[in-house]
Amino acid sequence: DDAGVPGRVRVAVRLRPRNAEESVADADFADCVELQPELKRLKLRKNNWDTDTYEFDEVLTEFASQKRVYEVVAKPVVEGVLDGYNGTIMAYGQTGTGKTYTLGRLGEEDTANRGIMVRAMEDILAEVTPGRDSVSFSYLQLYMESLQDLLDPTNDNISIVEDHKSGDVSLPGATLVEIRGQQSFLELLRLGEAHRHAANTKLNIESSRSHALLMVHVKRSVKGREPAHPSENGNNTNMAKSLRPPLVRKGKLVVVDLAGSERIGKSGSEGHTREEAKSINLSLSALGKCINALAENSAHVPVRDSKLTRLLRDSFGGTARTSLVITIGPSPRHRGETASTIMFGQRAM
Ligand code: ADP
Ligand code: MG
Repeated sequence: DDAGVPGRVRVAVRLRPRNAEESVADADFADCVELQPELKRLKLRKNNWDTDTYEFDEVLTEFASQKRVYEVVAKPVVEGVLDGYNGTIMAYGQTGTGKTYTLGRLGEEDTANRGIMVRAMEDILAEVTPGRDSVSFSYLQLYMESLQDLLDPTNDNISIVEDHKSGDVSLPGATLVEIRGQQSFLELLRLGEAHRHAANTKLNIESSRSHALLMVHVKRSVKGREPAHPSENGNNTNMAKSLRPPLVRKGKLVVVDLAGSERIGKSGSEGHTREEAKSINLSLSALGKCINALAENSAHVPVRDSKLTRLLRDSFGGTARTSLVITIGPSPRHRGETASTIMFGQRAM
């Protein structure tokens, strides 16, 4: 199993259960997909008698628990971050298929339903040593190439700074909050969500038309041994142990709840502007190209084509680990969108 192998994108598909509306409206029709989780296969119905078969790294049925989804999709990436490797976890799919449920669900009343962001922070906090290590995070929304701080709604034009030598990306204008306990993280995530909702309502934007990004920075001191990793500072192997400064191991985890992947009507009849549609299509296709380049082991990952991919520049390729979960719904009425989501996932492998 290459669960934690850097450089390659791991792709899981997750099917959500039928909702109440679909249970009624689609009662006489079969789901548009049939999953074979033990074979890691998905069959997409073409018509009544024919299907296309696709393979994924992991196939998660409508019965897969949030815990299992975390273990399969996120855990290897989180473990990498704790070891000083950058990592990205992304959810891609049509609006209403479960991206936010998978990544962002807080599950304050029903802890079994907590999503990946909350579980990742819990695992990180359990591993670090208070006082010696540090964990901090930013929470952002990217809408039409403008990057907004969800922890400070007055800050709606954050610029991306790229260190061309190291390739590191930083956001000097973004609020970075140090986190010591899970409760304060939950409160800040909730606050960020409220800010997102308020800002989008004011501007008449659907949240599904923007990308939400959680960035968690983990710094750990690993004292008293040889540097084992390129992200560790200090190149002083000849120095006596006691004279060596503590080595700092840094990892960054980015969790991306992508804008809905559905094709938007050119007329803007659903309340979308043409500019909005163009921007989403551009950023998702730029992302697709980067993921394809990683899958093909290409030396050139075209990160410059969109703000989204520029933001992810240091989380792609090299030693970084990337995990993609594509989310789909069962309704035969959305077969076309489901097929296009499946193809996005296939091209990433
Ligand atoms: P998206 O973020 O992709 O637009 P959501 O995460 O908001 O979709 O999910 C749409 C609806 O479906 C929500 O009401 C959510 O609670 C429900 N849902 C999504 N995935 C699941 C799941 N695996 N199990 C149960 N309900 C789900
Ligand atoms: Mg959502």
